[in-house]
Amino acid sequence: MRLYTFEINDEPRAGAELPRQGRLLDLHAADPALPSRLLELIRAGKPAWKHVADLLNVTSAPAYAFEEVKLLAPIARPGKILCSGINYRSHQEENPNATFPEEPFFFAKMPSAVIGPGAPIRHPKRTRELDYEIEFAVVIGRRMTGAPAGAVMDCVFGYTILHDVSARDVQFKDNQITLAKNFDSFCPLGPCIVTADELPHPENVRLRTYLNGELMQDGSTSDWVFSLPELLSFLSHTMTLEPGDVISTGTPAGVGVFRKPQRFLRPGDVVRLEAEGVGVLENPVIAA
Ligand code: MG
Repeated sequence: MRLYTFEINDEPRAGAELPRQGRLLDLHAADPALPSRLLELIRAGKPAWKHVADLLNVTSAPAYAFEEVKLLAPIARPGKILCSGINYRSHQEENPNATFPEEPFFFAKMPSAVIGPGAPIRHPKRTRELDYEIEFAVVIGRRMTGAPAGAVMDCVFGYTILHDVSARDVQFKDNQITLAKNFDSFCPLGPCIVTADELPHPENVRLRTYLNGELMQDGSTSDWVFSLPELLSFLSHTMTLEPGDVISTGTPAGVGVFRKPQRFLRPGDVVRLEAEGVGVLENPVIAA
């Protein structure tokens, strides 16, 4: 399934794309037994997910064309967002400061930084080095604590794209990674969540970033240093992962700070992220 959050009459609604029709079904309107928020549907667990899958095959409820609605981030405020740093060999090689990691490295992005498809990334006055990073992200479906690598994929609900927008001058000054990654609007998320059954090979997904139409990043998750089971298992031995949490898996080579010449984001730019099998997440940059 391809699940969305979209806005109708200023209200966020959980939606699913109707297979074969390419239209968007309002799940709660089609069946009032279903929640109107995607996070609630994820938390409701497998019986509710199966209910949606069955509904998509039989419903005759009206559905929207994508042009008619405004898409929002699939989850407006995830419980937590953890991002893996330096998890692509190509990104590790382009970064003169990076050493080969012996174990996964994570930092947090704040739920308040999340924005949806099309919403503006606000260029803060405090940075002169605003940078893009495409990331393939996992949405947790089942609570997991201290899970062995062999068990974690059962706890994955699905996948989305996370844009790890970064202020490099803030990041590299005193290692201020938390601030550098968490200005408002620094976490575009979307356009949808593709459920795990629809994307059986997350370890082989092509990722591309276009800046004003120019290809800047072209990588594949096959370049990961730590696999998804390794990342999730490692993290779950530190903290309990809960339904709706978002875990991001790092970025491939091609970010602005390591290009020659460097290329940073400016107001007026448009960043388009593409993940094969997931979709497109595009956001303009404006002055804050
Ligand atoms: Mg990153």
